[in-house]
Amino acid sequence: RAKLEGGSRIIFFKAVMGETIKERYRIERELRHAITRNQLRMYVQPQWEGGCKPVGVEALIRWEHPQRGLILPGMFIPLAETSDLIVAVDRWMLDAVCRLLGRLERDQQLTRVSVNISPRHFQQPDFVEEVKRKLSLSGADPAQLVLEVTEGLVIGDFADVIAKMTELRAMGVHFSMDDFGTGYSSLAYLKRLPIHEIKIDKSFIQDITTNPNDAALVESIVAVAQHLHLQVVAEGVETPEQAAFLNRLGTIIHQGYLYGRPQPVEQWLEQISP
Ligand code: C2E
Ligand code: MG
Ligand code: MG
Ligand code: MG
Repeated sequence: RAKLEGGSRIIFFKAVMGETIKERYRIERELRHAITRNQLRMYVQPQWEGGCKPVGVEALIRWEHPQRGLILPGMFIPLAETSDLIVAVDRWMLDAVCRLLGRLERDQQLTRVSVNISPRHFQQPDFVEEVKRKLSLSGADPAQLVLEVTEGLVIGDFADVIAKMTELRAMGVHFSMDDFGTGYSSLAYLKRLPIHEIKIDKSFIQDITTNPNDAALVESIVAVAQHLHLQVVAEGVETPEQAAFLNRLGTIIHQGYLYGRPQPVEQWLEQISP
Protein backbone atom coordinates (compact mmCIF):
# COMPACT_ATOMS: atom_id res chain seq x y z
CA ARG A 1 0.00 0.00 0.00
CA ALA A 2 2.86 2.29 0.91
CA LYS A 3 4.46 1.44 -2.41
CA LEU A 4 1.31 2.27 -4.27
CA GLU A 5 1.00 5.63 -2.53
CA GLY A 6 4.60 6.44 -3.36
CA GLY A 7 4.00 5.45 -6.96
CA SER A 8 0.87 7.51 -7.33
CA ARG A 9 2.66 10.46 -5.82
CA ILE A 10 5.31 10.18 -8.52
CA ILE A 11 2.65 9.92 -11.18
CA PHE A 12 0.94 12.97 -9.70
CA PHE A 13 4.25 14.88 -9.63
CA LYS A 14 4.95 13.98 -13.25
CA ALA A 15 1.49 15.13 -14.22
CA VAL A 16 2.00 18.47 -12.52
CA MET A 17 5.39 18.98 -14.13
CA GLY A 18 3.95 18.02 -17.49
CA GLU A 19 1.13 20.45 -16.99
CA THR A 20 3.54 23.21 -16.15
CA ILE A 21 5.61 22.77 -19.29
CA LYS A 22 2.49 22.31 -21.39
CA GLU A 23 0.96 25.35 -19.74
CA ARG A 24 4.05 27.35 -20.55
CA TYR A 25 3.96 26.41 -24.22
CA ARG A 26 0.26 27.09 -24.35
CA ILE A 27 0.67 30.60 -22.95
CA GLU A 28 3.55 31.30 -25.35
CA ARG A 29 1.52 30.12 -28.33
CA GLU A 30 -1.55 32.04 -27.28
CA LEU A 31 0.46 35.18 -26.62
CA ARG A 32 1.96 35.02 -30.11
CA HIS A 33 -1.56 34.88 -31.46
CA ALA A 34 -2.70 37.62 -29.09
CA ILE A 35 -0.57 40.10 -31.04
CA THR A 36 -2.03 39.22 -34.45
CA ARG A 37 -5.54 38.67 -33.14
CA ASN A 38 -5.67 42.12 -31.59
CA GLN A 39 -6.03 40.98 -27.97
CA LEU A 40 -3.39 43.28 -26.45
CA ARG A 41 -4.63 46.46 -24.78
CA MET A 42 -2.94 49.65 -23.70
CA TYR A 43 -3.95 50.86 -20.27
CA VAL A 44 -2.65 54.12 -18.84
CA GLN A 45 -2.10 55.36 -15.31
CA PRO A 46 -1.82 59.09 -14.55
CA GLN A 47 1.28 60.78 -13.14
CA TRP A 48 0.80 63.96 -11.10
CA GLU A 49 3.58 66.43 -10.43
CA GLY A 50 3.68 67.36 -6.77
CA GLY A 51 0.48 65.37 -6.44
CA CYS A 52 -1.53 68.26 -7.89
CA LYS A 53 -0.76 68.69 -11.59
CA PRO A 54 -1.27 65.97 -14.24
CA VAL A 55 1.88 65.70 -16.36
CA GLY A 56 1.55 62.39 -18.11
CA VAL A 57 0.77 58.71 -17.98
CA GLU A 58 2.54 55.39 -17.86
CA ALA A 59 1.37 52.92 -20.50
CA LEU A 60 0.78 49.45 -19.04
CA ILE A 61 -0.05 46.41 -21.12
CA ARG A 62 -3.04 44.12 -20.61
CA TRP A 63 -4.08 40.96 -22.44
CA GLU A 64 -7.74 40.54 -23.17
CA HIS A 65 -7.97 36.78 -23.42
CA PRO A 66 -11.13 35.51 -25.17
CA GLN A 67 -11.70 32.84 -22.50
CA ARG A 68 -9.83 34.05 -19.46
CA GLY A 69 -10.65 37.72 -19.51
CA LEU A 70 -8.24 40.53 -18.70
CA ILE A 71 -4.77 39.22 -17.82
CA LEU A 72 -2.26 41.39 -15.93
CA PRO A 73 1.34 41.69 -17.23
CA GLY A 74 2.70 39.89 -14.16
CA MET A 75 1.12 36.74 -15.60
CA PHE A 76 2.80 36.84 -19.03
CA ILE A 77 5.62 39.42 -19.24
CA PRO A 78 8.14 37.39 -17.17
CA LEU A 79 7.46 34.35 -19.36
CA ALA A 80 7.67 36.43 -22.55
CA GLU A 81 10.98 37.83 -21.30
CA THR A 82 12.59 34.38 -21.46
CA SER A 83 12.44 34.47 -25.26
CA ASP A 84 12.21 36.91 -28.18
CA LEU A 85 8.46 36.93 -27.67
CA ILE A 86 8.98 39.95 -25.42
CA VAL A 87 10.42 41.85 -28.37
CA ALA A 88 7.21 41.38 -30.34
CA VAL A 89 5.07 42.36 -27.34
CA ASP A 90 7.16 45.44 -26.55
CA ARG A 91 7.15 46.50 -30.20
CA TRP A 92 3.38 46.34 -30.26
CA MET A 93 3.25 48.55 -27.17
CA LEU A 94 5.84 51.05 -28.41
CA ASP A 95 3.85 51.38 -31.61
CA ALA A 96 0.63 52.03 -29.67
CA VAL A 97 2.41 54.58 -27.46
CA CYS A 98 3.84 56.50 -30.43
CA ARG A 99 0.41 56.60 -32.09
CA LEU A 100 -1.05 57.92 -28.85
CA LEU A 101 1.64 60.60 -28.67
CA GLY A 102 0.95 61.54 -32.30
CA ARG A 103 -2.70 62.00 -31.51
CA LEU A 104 -1.97 64.03 -28.36
CA GLU A 105 0.38 66.22 -30.42
CA ARG A 106 -2.34 66.87 -33.03
CA ASP A 107 -4.82 67.68 -30.25
CA GLN A 108 -2.21 70.02 -28.73
CA GLN A 109 -2.26 68.13 -25.45
CA LEU A 110 1.10 68.44 -23.75
CA THR A 111 1.36 65.08 -22.04
CA ARG A 112 4.29 62.77 -21.61
CA VAL A 113 3.83 59.04 -22.05
CA SER A 114 6.15 56.49 -20.40
CA VAL A 115 6.54 52.96 -21.67
CA ASN A 116 8.37 49.94 -20.23
CA ILE A 117 11.21 48.60 -22.37
CA SER A 118 12.53 45.11 -21.66
CA PRO A 119 16.32 44.63 -21.79
CA ARG A 120 15.98 42.13 -24.64
CA HIS A 121 14.04 44.65 -26.69
CA PHE A 122 16.51 47.45 -26.00
CA GLN A 123 19.37 45.14 -26.99
CA GLN A 124 17.99 44.58 -30.51
CA PRO A 125 20.51 46.02 -33.00
CA ASP A 126 17.77 48.08 -34.66
CA PHE A 127 16.25 49.46 -31.45
CA VAL A 128 17.23 53.08 -32.11
CA GLU A 129 16.01 52.81 -35.71
CA GLU A 130 12.72 51.34 -34.52
CA VAL A 131 12.07 54.20 -32.09
CA LYS A 132 13.01 56.81 -34.72
CA ARG A 133 10.75 55.22 -37.32
CA LYS A 134 7.78 54.91 -34.98
CA LEU A 135 8.15 58.49 -33.79
CA SER A 136 8.32 59.94 -37.28
CA LEU A 137 5.52 57.77 -38.72
CA SER A 138 3.17 58.80 -35.92
CA GLY A 139 4.11 62.47 -35.81
CA ALA A 140 4.87 62.20 -32.10
CA ASP A 141 7.02 64.72 -30.26
CA PRO A 142 10.12 62.75 -29.18
CA ALA A 143 10.44 64.95 -26.07
CA GLN A 144 7.16 63.54 -24.74
CA LEU A 145 8.34 59.93 -24.96
CA VAL A 146 9.81 58.41 -21.79
CA LEU A 147 11.46 55.01 -22.08
CA GLU A 148 11.43 53.15 -18.75
CA VAL A 149 14.39 50.84 -18.43
CA THR A 150 15.60 48.70 -15.54
CA GLU A 151 18.98 47.79 -14.14
CA GLY A 152 18.66 44.48 -15.99
CA LEU A 153 19.78 46.45 -19.03
CA VAL A 154 23.30 47.00 -17.74
CA ILE A 155 24.04 43.29 -17.55
CA GLY A 156 24.57 43.48 -21.31
CA ASP A 157 27.08 45.47 -23.34
CA PHE A 158 27.48 48.69 -21.35
CA ALA A 159 29.07 50.68 -24.18
CA ASP A 160 26.19 49.69 -26.47
CA VAL A 161 23.65 50.80 -23.86
CA ILE A 162 25.32 54.21 -23.50
CA ALA A 163 25.61 54.66 -27.28
CA LYS A 164 21.92 53.88 -27.90
CA MET A 165 20.74 56.04 -25.03
CA THR A 166 22.92 58.95 -26.13
CA GLU A 167 21.57 58.79 -29.68
CA LEU A 168 17.95 58.73 -28.52
CA ARG A 169 18.55 61.48 -25.98
CA ALA A 170 19.98 63.65 -28.72
CA MET A 171 16.56 63.37 -30.42
CA GLY A 172 14.85 64.51 -27.22
CA VAL A 173 13.68 61.11 -25.92
CA HIS A 174 13.87 60.76 -22.13
CA PHE A 175 14.93 57.79 -20.04
CA SER A 176 13.63 56.71 -16.67
CA MET A 177 15.18 54.09 -14.36
CA ASP A 178 12.23 51.95 -13.25
CA ASP A 179 11.91 49.94 -10.02
CA PHE A 180 14.75 51.99 -8.55
CA GLY A 181 16.19 50.55 -5.36
CA THR A 182 15.23 46.93 -5.98
CA GLY A 183 18.43 46.00 -7.83
CA TYR A 184 22.08 46.43 -6.90
CA SER A 185 24.72 49.17 -7.30
CA SER A 186 22.04 51.49 -8.63
CA LEU A 187 24.05 54.55 -7.68
CA ALA A 188 27.02 53.58 -9.84
CA TYR A 189 24.77 53.31 -12.91
CA LEU A 190 23.04 56.58 -12.16
CA LYS A 191 26.28 58.43 -12.65
CA ARG A 192 27.14 56.78 -15.95
CA LEU A 193 23.82 56.47 -17.76
CA PRO A 194 22.27 59.44 -19.58
CA ILE A 195 18.92 59.09 -17.81
CA HIS A 196 16.87 62.03 -16.59
CA GLU A 197 14.57 60.32 -14.08
CA ILE A 198 14.32 57.58 -11.50
CA LYS A 199 11.16 55.80 -10.36
CA ILE A 200 11.26 54.77 -6.73
CA ASP A 201 9.79 51.29 -6.47
CA LYS A 202 6.41 51.02 -4.78
CA SER A 203 7.79 48.63 -2.17
CA PHE A 204 9.61 51.64 -0.62
CA ILE A 205 6.63 54.00 -0.82
CA GLN A 206 4.20 51.54 0.75
CA ASP A 207 5.45 52.04 4.32
CA ILE A 208 7.07 55.51 4.25
CA THR A 209 4.66 56.87 6.85
CA THR A 210 4.99 53.90 9.22
CA ASN A 211 8.49 52.51 8.76
CA PRO A 212 11.33 54.91 9.65
CA ASN A 213 13.83 52.85 7.63
CA ASP A 214 11.78 53.16 4.45
CA ALA A 215 11.25 56.86 5.16
CA ALA A 216 15.01 57.36 5.55
CA LEU A 217 15.73 55.38 2.38
CA VAL A 218 13.28 57.38 0.29
CA GLU A 219 14.64 60.65 1.70
CA SER A 220 18.19 59.60 0.79
CA ILE A 221 17.24 58.46 -2.72
CA VAL A 222 15.48 61.78 -3.34
CA ALA A 223 18.48 63.72 -1.99
CA VAL A 224 20.88 61.87 -4.30
CA ALA A 225 18.54 62.38 -7.26
CA GLN A 226 18.31 66.10 -6.54
CA HIS A 227 22.10 66.40 -6.40
CA LEU A 228 22.33 64.66 -9.78
CA HIS A 229 19.50 66.86 -11.15
CA LEU A 230 17.31 63.86 -11.80
CA GLN A 231 13.53 63.94 -11.81
CA VAL A 232 11.94 61.60 -9.26
CA VAL A 233 8.75 59.59 -9.74
CA ALA A 234 7.23 57.81 -6.73
CA GLU A 235 5.31 54.65 -7.63
CA GLY A 236 2.44 53.19 -5.65
CA VAL A 237 1.22 56.33 -3.88
CA GLU A 238 -2.02 55.22 -2.27
CA THR A 239 -2.74 57.60 0.64
CA PRO A 240 -2.82 61.37 1.23
CA GLU A 241 -0.29 60.83 4.04
CA GLN A 242 2.21 59.28 1.63
CA ALA A 243 1.63 62.16 -0.80
CA ALA A 244 2.19 64.73 1.99
CA PHE A 245 5.41 62.99 3.01
CA LEU A 246 6.70 63.13 -0.58
CA ASN A 247 5.71 66.78 -0.97
CA ARG A 248 7.93 67.67 1.98
CA LEU A 249 10.92 66.24 0.09
CA GLY A 250 10.52 68.30 -3.07
CA THR A 251 8.72 68.35 -6.40
CA ILE A 252 8.19 64.70 -7.08
CA ILE A 253 5.93 63.12 -9.68
CA HIS A 254 3.36 60.90 -7.97
CA GLN A 255 1.87 57.78 -9.52
CA GLY A 256 -0.50 55.46 -7.71
CA TYR A 257 -4.05 54.46 -6.89
CA LEU A 258 -4.55 57.75 -4.99
CA TYR A 259 -4.60 59.50 -8.38
CA GLY A 260 -6.09 56.70 -10.43
CA ARG A 261 -5.77 53.06 -11.35
CA PRO A 262 -4.59 52.00 -14.78
CA GLN A 263 -7.53 52.45 -17.18
CA PRO A 264 -8.16 51.75 -20.89
CA VAL A 265 -6.50 54.48 -22.96
CA GLU A 266 -9.77 55.34 -24.76
CA GLN A 267 -11.41 56.06 -21.41
CA TRP A 268 -8.56 58.34 -20.36
CA LEU A 269 -8.67 60.20 -23.69
CA GLU A 270 -12.37 60.90 -23.16
CA GLN A 271 -11.62 62.30 -19.70
CA ILE A 272 -8.96 64.74 -20.86
CA SER A 273 -10.61 65.90 -24.09
CA PRO A 274 -12.32 69.25 -23.60
P1 C2E B 1 6.03 48.81 -13.40
O1 C2E B 1 6.56 49.35 -14.68
O2 C2E B 1 6.83 49.05 -12.18
O3 C2E B 1 4.56 49.44 -13.27
C1 C2E B 1 3.95 49.80 -12.06
C2 C2E B 1 2.99 48.72 -11.58
O4 C2E B 1 2.47 49.14 -10.30
C3 C2E B 1 1.78 48.52 -12.47
O5 C2E B 1 1.41 47.16 -12.40
C4 C2E B 1 0.72 49.38 -11.79
O6 C2E B 1 -0.60 48.99 -12.07
C5 C2E B 1 1.06 49.13 -10.35
N1 C2E B 1 0.58 50.21 -9.47
C6 C2E B 1 0.44 51.51 -9.77
N2 C2E B 1 0.00 52.23 -8.73
C7 C2E B 1 -0.14 51.36 -7.70
C8 C2E B 1 -0.55 51.50 -6.33
O7 C2E B 1 -0.89 52.60 -5.85
N3 C2E B 1 -0.55 50.36 -5.57
C9 C2E B 1 -0.16 49.15 -6.08
N4 C2E B 1 -0.19 48.11 -5.26
N5 C2E B 1 0.23 48.99 -7.36
C10 C2E B 1 0.24 50.07 -8.17
P2 C2E B 1 1.01 46.32 -13.71
O8 C2E B 1 0.23 47.18 -14.67
O9 C2E B 1 0.41 45.04 -13.26
O10 C2E B 1 2.42 46.05 -14.40
C11 C2E B 1 3.37 45.24 -13.75
C12 C2E B 1 4.70 45.29 -14.45
O11 C2E B 1 4.64 44.70 -15.75
C13 C2E B 1 5.22 46.70 -14.70
O12 C2E B 1 5.79 47.22 -13.54
C14 C2E B 1 6.22 46.45 -15.80
O13 C2E B 1 7.46 46.02 -15.26
C15 C2E B 1 5.59 45.31 -16.58
N6 C2E B 1 4.94 45.84 -17.80
C16 C2E B 1 3.73 46.41 -17.96
N7 C2E B 1 3.50 46.75 -19.25
C17 C2E B 1 4.62 46.39 -19.93
C18 C2E B 1 5.04 46.49 -21.32
O14 C2E B 1 4.34 47.01 -22.21
N8 C2E B 1 6.28 46.00 -21.62
C19 C2E B 1 7.11 45.45 -20.67
N9 C2E B 1 8.30 44.99 -21.06
N10 C2E B 1 6.75 45.36 -19.39
C20 C2E B 1 5.54 45.82 -19.02
MG1 MG C 1 7.23 51.04 -15.35
MG1 MG D 1 8.98 47.60 -14.17
MG1 MG E 1 8.17 50.18 -11.39
